Amino acid sequence: MTINTLPSCVVFGVLAATCAVVVACSTAGVQRTDSTTAVAHSGDLTAVRTQIRDAEPGSTVTIPAGTYIDEELTFIGEGTAEAPITLQAETEGRVFFEGESNLRMSGSNLIVRGLVFRNGSTPTGEVISFRTGPDANCEDCRVTACVIDNFNKAERQESDLWVALYGKRNRFDHNHLSGKRNRGVTMAVRMDTEQSRENEHRIDHNYFGPRPILGSNGGESLRIGTSHYSMFRSGTLVEYNYFDRCNGEVEVISSKSDGNTFTRNTFYECQGTLTMRHGNETIVEDNFFFGNGKANTGGIRIINKDQTVRNNYAEGLTGSRFRGALTVMNGVPNSPANRYVQVVKGIAEHNTFIDCDNIQLAAGSDVERSATPVDSRIANNIFYHTKRDSVFTVYDDISGITFEGNVLSPNVRAPQDEGFRKEQLDFVREAGVLVSSTAATAGYGRTGTTERATLDNTGVSWYARSSEAAEFHTGTTTAVPADGDALFAAIREASPGDVLELAPGTYTIRKTVLLREPITIRGNGASREDVKLLFERPTLFSIENGGSLSLKHLTVDGAAAPDNTGNAVIRTSRYSMTDNYKLLLEDCAFRDLDVNHSFDVLRVYASTFADSISAVDCHFEDVSGSVFAAAQETEDRGVYNVENVVVQGCTFDNIGKTAIDLYRGGSDESTAGPILALTDSEFNSVGNDKRNSVDASMRIHGVQYAVISGNEWRDSKPLRMHLSVGEPVIKLSGNELSPERDIVSNSDDYEYND
Ligand code: CA
Repeated sequence: MTINTLPSCVVFGVLAATCAVVVACSTAGVQRTDSTTAVAHSGDLTAVRTQIRDAEPGSTVTIPAGTYIDEELTFIGEGTAEAPITLQAETEGRVFFEGESNLRMSGSNLIVRGLVFRNGSTPTGEVISFRTGPDANCEDCRVTACVIDNFNKAERQESDLWVALYGKRNRFDHNHLSGKRNRGVTMAVRMDTEQSRENEHRIDHNYFGPRPILGSNGGESLRIGTSHYSMFRSGTLVEYNYFDRCNGEVEVISSKSDGNTFTRNTFYECQGTLTMRHGNETIVEDNFFFGNGKANTGGIRIINKDQTVRNNYAEGLTGSRFRGALTVMNGVPNSPANRYVQVVKGIAEHNTFIDCDNIQLAAGSDVERSATPVDSRIANNIFYHTKRDSVFTVYDDISGITFEGNVLSPNVRAPQDEGFRKEQLDFVREAGVLVSSTAATAGYGRTGTTERATLDNTGVSWYARSSEAAEFHTGTTTAVPADGDALFAAIREASPGDVLELAPGTYTIRKTVLLREPITIRGNGASREDVKLLFERPTLFSIENGGSLSLKHLTVDGAAAPDNTGNAVIRTSRYSMTDNYKLLLEDCAFRDLDVNHSFDVLRVYASTFADSISAVDCHFEDVSGSVFAAAQETEDRGVYNVENVVVQGCTFDNIGKTAIDLYRGGSDESTAGPILALTDSEFNSVGNDKRNSVDASMRIHGVQYAVISGNEWRDSKPLRMHLSVGEPVIKLSGNELSPERDIVSNSDDYEYND
């Protein structure tokens, strides 16, 4: 089959977007320490426990400055509104809970202030819990000015909550929660007992710091309720919180109960949405979303009844489908609690959307989700886009939505005639927000104060926010002479972001190199052949937690590797990695990886996750195993191994197994990936090694977005695609397969030009 070329802008547009993701996901190599001075000794809480026990209304218990290791502190007391009991750090930011530590509290009118949890994780399912037992909850309690920083379970897939709100009328404010990397919601309002419903909690002025892509469901930053109790009212007020790059999954916030209000929150480059997942009568008003054109950034998603979305501002959001700037979902007729309730009486009015790529109406329409929105209204909004004409996508019947008074920029195509008019608008930026100065639009779009969560009015002032640390090329460059031991030593000495520049010659590496930081290794010869790496162990590089690797302009030769099955040039840790990593290969050759069968270029293990794997202008030759196999998932829960794969201008010659194998199982729709861009590459005799039985030269299973363009397959096993999960977008163009054969797919639902 010969497939003609799509317009190149499509390919390169997608590539550019994908590359932007590669650059944007700066999650590897996270510094675990902050700028405050740690106290070396381990403290003793005996006196504190006694004081807590003896506390009376109005008492203040002070925790001396220090580091407390493996402490589970319980704070039970009965204060009064006029005279609460306070548990506080002697100095805010000088009391550290580390190791296996947590805090549980119950009673009434308790205040906790100024604690830091870091360098460890909770031994239970919660770090800060507003209860000490199923019937011992907090009422009118407050946790303020506390920090939880990278306090993660070592096992990526082991779930916990950092903050669990139980009881009623509690307040969680001015806290800093950053760097959750294992499975489980960062903060949850729990409603599993009668005493925890109609709770009227207040969550305000918190800094929700970066949460990297989890690569499965369970990466929400805030959840209120669960599907099981979604018929109950919570009435939680969520205001003035700053969500900074909360990219865990599709739901930054998952509202799953009745009567919650979200207002004056700021969402900065978040790859997800404020989702009204379950429950009714939610108010989403005066929130601010800034995508800055970053991939998969989203806005607001409406599901269920009586939801009001009013006076919000969204700019530069690129997300599509469930990550649209505004997504109105289809429901399931007579939906079970855990599926999708039909949108009834949904209102979206007086919102402003500027340069937001996707407004999604009747989204998720399929055989199951067939109940279209009814009795709903989208009115007096501004939808302005300076570049894109096609902003609205209508997936099903939208006659149940009344459109009135919406203003579009002249280029944007309306989803229907009625309820839309076009205006050339001028904007002025005021307090970081674009406001229309065109008189004809007075009263349309967002109006009123731009007061909102900022970096200054959220979290604490005394704790550094720069938890996203080291990247490639941020350190120093060191010249390395042509000697394997010298290279090994240089890597061991390297700091995060360092570049090692290799003199021409052959480097024989005797030991496996463990990478715990982002390191670049670059050949300094005239060609990539001038710098050659040989290795004598089954693995050359092992990417450990915190590590990332960039190889440039060099050759890796497997000739010196032992006669083992299962060698790999690069592998991840065999153990769980909570930090996402990157592997970037540029102008490199990999050859003679065939001393035994199943010799891979890259081998990934379960519970590891790459933000990006990229190979540009590389040559892979005589590899008995696979080149890029990221297919460790076996349970089909949608827990995959890599978000972005870019293969551009590469040649695969005589590969025993698959060149590229990406697997994402299950049917969960929480993630944007995996994403693949495969362009201008050649596959020659791939998948034919008789010692390995494979049926594909390349397999993509559950990939959500793929551009496969300008490639050639010769004498290779078929390209197999299993299109599943949501609505995968697969664009094929300009590929040649010889001898002529079909691409094997479970679905014809992909786009190509013959
Ligand atoms: Ca979710």
